[in-house]
Amino acid sequence: MPRPKFSEFALIARHFTHPAPHAVLGVGDDAALLRPAKGMELAVSADMLVAGQHFYHDADAAGLGHKSLAVNLSDMAAMGAKPRWVLLSLALPAIDERWIARFARGFMRLARTFDVDLVGGDTTRGPLTISVQIIGEVPAGRALRRDGAGVGDDVWVSGALGDAALAVAAGHGRVRLNDAERRACARRLERPAPRIDLGIALRGIATAAIDISDGLIADLGHIAERSEVSAVVDFAQLPHSRTMARHLANAAARKALLAGGDDYELCFTAPATRRRAVTGAGRRAGIAVTRIGRIAAAARGGSVTALDHERPLQLQRGGFDHFS
Ligand code: ADP
Ligand code: MG
Repeated sequence: MPRPKFSEFALIARHFTHPAPHAVLGVGDDAALLRPAKGMELAVSADMLVAGQHFYHDADAAGLGHKSLAVNLSDMAAMGAKPRWVLLSLALPAIDERWIARFARGFMRLARTFDVDLVGGDTTRGPLTISVQIIGEVPAGRALRRDGAGVGDDVWVSGALGDAALAVAAGHGRVRLNDAERRACARRLERPAPRIDLGIALRGIATAAIDISDGLIADLGHIAERSEVSAVVDFAQLPHSRTMARHLANAAARKALLAGGDDYELCFTAPATRRRAVTGAGRRAGIAVTRIGRIAAAARGGSVTALDHERPLQLQRGGFDHFS
């Protein structure tokens, strides 16, 4: 389809053409050529970030490059897939080479960290939008899906929850953070670390998995729904940072911990007989894993309950609290 050209070829050549050692053919032809290894299934996913919707127009370009790839890598982690290839499509309102260079640097640095090849994409003029497609590999039949949680399974999460949402809450004046706290939380929001090694280590151990992009309650809810079970989590067990600990008296902080998005930790289930295997997987992957609850039969399919000292918590205006 004919479209406005704006030295698009030079831009692609300068910023988005890199060696693609795992591809048969990378950037520069009408399509890339990929060859999956024998016995592997392809895990394919896409995520789009729109200016004004998912990030501010003045957001740091390198951070956006990082985050736009990180959120896609996180989907691979949640499937237990090894990410291999990525496509990057950009709509850019104008050509700002410095912005593009910074964006590409943030993106490629993370791509190199995870040994992912940028094999194609599209570049066009339009309202600032970043669309990434990612392709990974997982041994046939071994992907971590959302629909495998069984009654009696434990519920686990990686890392610490809620700091990214705490940064957002602070931005809206709902929590007051000091400078060091603000920086630490902003880093979690802007530079999420995809848990690829953990996802791979959990193959054959976890019965279901999801990455936490919309908040623990919502994302565990997706596992519960797809697995036709219910889940109960214990608020007191939720792993959190020292910053979060200092603000837990604030309902907005409790909401960030239970239901805040953008953490990109993994939430997964595993049989109670596999606890040592799970902690071993965490150790091998270099990330803490914490048991936070259990899976029960579905009274109502897909329900998630959070208990605090045995009492159910409920979302109130501005945060989670006890039923009155
Ligand atoms: P076509 O006209 O066939 O769509 P393009 O001119 O859009 O080709 O792109 C030329 C090559 O550059 C293709 O290999 C395409 O995949 C790649 N490409 C375009 N934009 C990007 C980008 N932002 N990042 C990586 N590769 C890109
Ligand atoms: Mg094109």
